Amino acid sequence: MDNSVKNIAILGSTGSIGRQTLQVIRNLPRRFHVVGLTAGKNLELLSEQIAEFQPKFIYYQSDNTSKVKSQKSKFLSMEDIARHPEVDTVVIATSGKAGLDATLAAVRAGKNVAIANKEPLVMAGEIITGEAKRCNARILPIDSEHSAIWQCLNGEPQPPKRIILTASGGPFRGYSEAQLDKVTASQALKHPSWKMGKKVTIDSATLMNKGLEIMETRWLFDVPIDKISVVIHPQSIIHSMVEFVDGSFKAQLSYPDMRFPIQYALTQPERVPNAELPKLDWSKIQGLTFEMPDFKNFPCLELAISAARTGGTCPTVLCAADEMAVELFMKEEIKFTDIARLVRQALQDHKPILHPTLEDIIKTDEQVRKSTWKLAGKKK
Ligand code: MG
Repeated sequence: MDNSVKNIAILGSTGSIGRQTLQVIRNLPRRFHVVGLTAGKNLELLSEQIAEFQPKFIYYQSDNTSKVKSQKSKFLSMEDIARHPEVDTVVIATSGKAGLDATLAAVRAGKNVAIANKEPLVMAGEIITGEAKRCNARILPIDSEHSAIWQCLNGEPQPPKRIILTASGGPFRGYSEAQLDKVTASQALKHPSWKMGKKVTIDSATLMNKGLEIMETRWLFDVPIDKISVVIHPQSIIHSMVEFVDGSFKAQLSYPDMRFPIQYALTQPERVPNAELPKLDWSKIQGLTFEMPDFKNFPCLELAISAARTGGTCPTVLCAADEMAVELFMKEEIKFTDIARLVRQALQDHKPILHPTLEDIIKTDEQVRKSTWKLAGKKK
């Protein structure tokens, strides 16, 4: 095989980022070879992907194996696929904390780790970035804001003065507390500008997503929390900005489409034409506007910032309580405003461990999931 062809494994290939990664790969033929695909429960789509890409290695979570028809692919665990010698780049497209172990396996095997899944970095950022240094792994951000920051910092020898994360504000921007009390899961899932998975879409509606992104920024670019701020930019054209010591800013712009950051993570430092990606039409853009976030009615942002400042196990508590609360909200078991309430309670009840081991993090995660479920009055 041609040496310039990159061998890719996609963990979470049937989710939103996984499907869009395969679209990019389809659009850039002869550059990539898909060697591994893993999925949770969508075995029908996984079977279609296996038929099209013929990966050597597969993994799926569901017991219903009869649906997956593949004589050629070998079944391995996510971690074994992530660390396999035949894999060059691992795309972490899983959701929630599901990608944590595989991310560490990929990092410890010195891979290029293109990461879209926020929670591993939020929960175990210190461990993952430390291991990446030790094992010569590269962590390549796929989250659009972090891809923007990365592109702005490329070629800059000095550290940034400040990083400004942009946020669309989600579907409930400008809503009062009384209005937020009544919103439904289907309303929250209608994001005004981005096409994303369900968990991140709900997190965008609460602004928790931006809080998690502050922590991702902290670890990916080694920038203190106090140098990272958030501005609401409803058009989602500017994907983040970096300010330098001379007062100059750099920003990265495109239509909101996750295939841009996915493609950059896969082809960098090279830029490659892709006819399928939407090009900005300046005659149609009416304006780019900015406003400050509403911390009062969207308390998840402040909760995340305070968890980030304390650090240690606090971000894990935040992630675990949020993942449970979002699940309960999607099942219509709790109100939208209860998400922040449950997260706040979990943080208040927790005694932080400041320099946790991976075991501390996993234990904290399990405890908080259980207690949040109980706090919401549910049995599991
Ligand atoms: Mg993002």
